[in-house]
Amino acid sequence: MEIELRNSILKKVENIIHYDFNVIGLGSESCPHKLPAIEEILKIYDIASDHDKKFRLITPITPQSSLDFVLNTIQQFIDETSNGDITINDLGVLHACQETILNEKTNHCFNIGLGIVVSLAQCAWIDHILRDESNFIRDAYLKTNMNHDRKIRFLQEYYGIKGVEVPYIPKIEKSFSELKNKGLEIIAQINYIPVAYARACHTARFYKIRPPNCVNKCEDTIKIKLEEIFDLTQLIPRYIKPDPDVKKLIPDFWLVGNVLYRKELISNISDSVDCVVLDSRFYSNKELKSTIEWLSTIT
Ligand SMILES: [Zn+2]
Repeated sequence: MEIELRNSILKKVENIIHYDFNVIGLGSESCPHKLPAIEEILKIYDIASDHDKKFRLITPITPQSSLDFVLNTIQQFIDETSNGDITINDLGVLHACQETILNEKTNHCFNIGLGIVVSLAQCAWIDHILRDESNFIRDAYLKTNMNHDRKIRFLQEYYGIKGVEVPYIPKIEKSFSELKNKGLEIIAQINYIPVAYARACHTARFYKIRPPNCVNKCEDTIKIKLEEIFDLTQLIPRYIKPDPDVKKLIPDFWLVGNVLYRKELISNISDSVDCVVLDSRFYSNKELKSTIEWLSTIT
């Protein structure tokens, strides 16, 4: 099993490049401002090959205003490099790249990322939603939206997709082997699960700045705890303290840019997983190192 360290900043890549991992993931699934300029991408690509690491370019969920930039970056990356992975998180970008992906001269491998692959189990209170459901209904929910034969075939044949990124949630592990059996490579993001994507950057809002001036601030996580809820049952709605049952259902969240994550630490990795992803923004360098060491003991 491979380990990908995901990052978007040259300085950070230089600091961790000597660690014992296999793939440098560059970019973000959610923000076009985290996709570096092509010169910097190529510099990091060279650093990766100098250190015998694979390189994976991560392109984001893409608003119309960034579409040309993202498509040009993908094309330039393909023109300037001999191989490497590209993970696409936007269906519009995937569709626009179809010809490029299927071009026989391209040695690059294309995956779809968590901007496209989702599971209802990402919801923090999925157990509550499913608690009175039969096993049949539970099984239908505890999968990803890619666990569908025709969809997989379409993605493989029409778009040339080789791998899928999944959120590593132990209760949907069975769905990973189903995807793997269809010939897809399984890339799993571990420990931090995205639960909601927004169009606007909430980190920028928090600091009262405007994107793209938030790119450095968006490297830090902001922990969000449930302290109060809005009570609509009163004549004059107001904030109140949630009762213990509600607090039990709502975990802590981490805000990073325009994505909200929850933590679900794993203790094991399914055999179906080909590569695990550690998003460097959630770990100090020391924690990254110890997590890599721990991963090598369980695989
Ligand atoms: Zn931001």
